[in-house]
Amino acid sequence: MGHGHEERHFMGQTGAWEIFETAGLITKLHQSTAVWARIVTPRHASTTWFFMHQKLPVKCRMARFTTQGIKLKCELCGEAEEDMNHLFFKCKWAREYWQVIHRWLSSSIDTNSMDIFLHSIRKLKGSRGMRMIAYAIIAAVIYQIWRIRNEKIISHHQLPVQTQCKHTKDHII
Ligand SMILES: [Zn+2]
Repeated sequence: MGHGHEERHFMGQTGAWEIFETAGLITKLHQSTAVWARIVTPRHASTTWFFMHQKLPVKCRMARFTTQGIKLKCELCGEAEEDMNHLFFKCKWAREYWQVIHRWLSSSIDTNSMDIFLHSIRKLKGSRGMRMIAYAIIAAVIYQIWRIRNEKIISHHQLPVQTQCKHTKDHII
């Protein structure tokens, strides 16, 4: 479950259990990266792992490893170079997405930039249950943004933000 062809589906369609599984993995990640390495990770959990370590192959990162010319423009807005800070936090598309998601997130989670965001989730307070839910939502959004970006590159197809959010929301709440 949750592998192969399902990766192409919206997270919502793969079921809420996966979101919570991811949340558990992220909590363990905070305790020890060694624990993380021993766990067979669902694909979206590994996306989140690469995100947390700022190692997702965004265009600006890829350009450092190749001499071939890479077009650095963001696929989603075309207005800036694609680094992690832009793709996940500064891109107008991502900002719109977070704006909707913020209705379900703790107000102490700040999505203004990559650095601020990482800092705010590490300092997240509240009961373990509440933090787990916040991590689950965050993992869902990170996975979605990365997947949507990849899909845009492959098929040039992009759903409106409201449609994307509805898919996420329907299965978190
Ligand atoms: Zn953009």
